Amino acid sequence: MRRAVTVIGLLAAAGACIAAVGTPEAAPQTSTAGPSYTLLEDADLVHNQLYAAGQVPAVPCHVPDRPLKTHSDIQLSADAMLGCLERAWTPVVERADASFSPTALYVVTVGAQTGCGEFDGGDDAFYCPDDSDIYLDWTQHVEESPDDRPYESAYLLFVLAHEFGHHVQQLVGIMADDDDSLERGRRLELQASCLAAAFLGANQNTLDLHGDRLDGYEDAAYFGDHDHGSDKNNKLWSKAGFAAKSPSACNTWAAPAKRVS
Ligand SMILES: [Zn+2]
Repeated sequence: MRRAVTVIGLLAAAGACIAAVGTPEAAPQTSTAGPSYTLLEDADLVHNQLYAAGQVPAVPCHVPDRPLKTHSDIQLSADAMLGCLERAWTPVVERADASFSPTALYVVTVGAQTGCGEFDGGDDAFYCPDDSDIYLDWTQHVEESPDDRPYESAYLLFVLAHEFGHHVQQLVGIMADDDDSLERGRRLELQASCLAAAFLGANQNTLDLHGDRLDGYEDAAYFGDHDHGSDKNNKLWSKAGFAAKSPSACNTWAAPAKRVS
């Protein structure tokens, strides 16, 4: 994941988001002018069986309804969310003709050792492809006040769903490439957020993504940066994944460059 979002940032973004409601968005184009990057013919990316694996199912899911105040609060909530993600994605990954294996979630602070080196706190969470595990900086997910709760819990959910999207990419062979260009990175990140959206759309009711919690998710998901693509494209792919509830909407590798800028 990419950034620390303060509650002030979330609330400010909520205002901006409300102003944008009602603006129609075109679906991501995946079949017109091709991408400019050099991996177009890579079957693992463009023609991955993940896109034909069908919808993410709604799964039984119980996340503790408690404030995120301490390390253990966040560990408990994050572990529960991880269980939901695993139950939902296992059949999809298997239908994509890949083997599912679980990922571990470590709730850490700056200086912790990870499979990808020392955690420097530059991100509030990240997926390490070398050990297939997720690392979450708990200090960046602590609620400051009771009013934060729907936003913080929805933000944590989005962050974990995004990082789990990278795990799905790893399982189906999409991570296995050493081209680290900016455009490739954005395709990877936008796809992870689209996969997150597919899971969250499929489980919107189970996870109570309505009202303030839905606003909190959208504020986080519709936010871009240099490495993750523009706000507009994050919104585009997230809305597409959420509506489709399926990785079929998430083929960022076949999209034209302007859809992954
Ligand atoms: Zn990411």
